[in-house]
Amino acid sequence: MSEVVVLGAGPAGCAAAIELGRGGGKPVLIDRNARPGDALCGGFLSWRTAQRLGQLGCSPEELGAHRVDTLMLYGPGRSVNVTLSQPCWGLSRHALDTRLRALASEAGSTLEVDTIREVDGLELHGRSSHRTASALFLASGKHDVRGSGRPREAADPALGLRLRIQPSAGLARRLAGRIELHLFPGGYAGIVLQEDGAANICMALRKSLFAAHGGDPRALLGGLARTHPHFGLRLEPHWAEAQIDTIGAVPYGWSTAETRPGVFRVGDQCAVIPSLAGEGIDIAVASGMAAAKAWLTGGPRASTTFQADFHSAVTGPIRWAGAAWQVAERPAMASAALSAVRFAPSLLEKVILATRLA
Ligand SMILES: Cc1cc2nc3c(=O)[nH]c(=O)nc-3n(C[C@H](O)[C@H](O)[C@H](O)COP(=O)(O)OP(=O)(O)OC[C@H]3O[C@@H](n4cnc5c(N)ncnc54)[C@H](O)[C@@H]3O)c2cc1C
Repeated sequence: MSEVVVLGAGPAGCAAAIELGRGGGKPVLIDRNARPGDALCGGFLSWRTAQRLGQLGCSPEELGAHRVDTLMLYGPGRSVNVTLSQPCWGLSRHALDTRLRALASEAGSTLEVDTIREVDGLELHGRSSHRTASALFLASGKHDVRGSGRPREAADPALGLRLRIQPSAGLARRLAGRIELHLFPGGYAGIVLQEDGAANICMALRKSLFAAHGGDPRALLGGLARTHPHFGLRLEPHWAEAQIDTIGAVPYGWSTAETRPGVFRVGDQCAVIPSLAGEGIDIAVASGMAAAKAWLTGGPRASTTFQADFHSAVTGPIRWAGAAWQVAERPAMASAALSAVRFAPSLLEKVILATRLA
């Protein structure tokens, strides 16, 4: 008998596996890594994400996540401090993914380690196995699998960059209780403390900005630190030794209503919200849960309806997050927006809410 397969054990795949398992589905969860790595991600969990994770039995607070009550925005020539209406959290992806994998296993899913090289409908060709699934939950996230890729034709694509600054008293004093967004021409950096007190600095930047620094991430960081002193201060004292991870051509703004019967696209494989919004993990978990529920009630044929419904649910948040990212990366617009927020903080609350999935 062919199996229900979930490809990818990130937030989307684990959420699907947990719901499928709890509904009696006994899925096979495939990931190329035997143990959760530490995906390139800002690690910011909004109150909405925390609520959604709670539905799966995963509490960021119990995992030791750093509580965040304030959003600090640093833009051209000015900064704004906004109190968040509900607590949010900073958590490493290693901690989050470890917990989600454990819940998936408790719910009855089986983890298999393999790198899938190609997907052809319900057929999966892996490095060490070939199989035909009765239903496939495609959750390979930031990485496309041959046969199911996403379009990447942007003229000046966004790249992701992440580094960690080790815990220190200075860092704790500066960043306690806050998420910081530093806006640059052509990108932004999000900074938040995580469960171990280290600062996760995660950036989305245009390729042209990289190119202007010879494609060298350290030259880029050094340049930004000099021109943006608040950001430079966050990098001190040991950033030069920190490991820098990068990811290319993130297809921000893409989402799809299309799929094949039996194939449920979830997480970044169905929608990629600009990361400035800090909503990607919530979309991943929500899509994984909704897809599993659709399969449990309608079987493999429910995939096409699920995909169309989820696409229409996510279109508004993606559009708002895209507009916010456009404003943030243009200095004149960012400066005007920060002035507006300083006088009417409720404006920002409204935009934040518009980028959340209902
Ligand atoms: C710069 C940046 C910052 C971000 N910051 C935030 C943030 O602060 N908050 C937030 O909510 N969201 C953030 N996001 C978005 C968030 O990281 C993603 O939306 C989320 O990780 C999507 O989850 P996923 O499960 O779909 O995919 P992933 O997290 O990418 O997981 C995919 C899984 O599939 C596995 N896999 C991939 N390919 C294969 C293969 N061929 N064979 C087997 N296994 C495979 C991987 O090993 C991995 O475990 C950020 C994104 C970027 C680019």
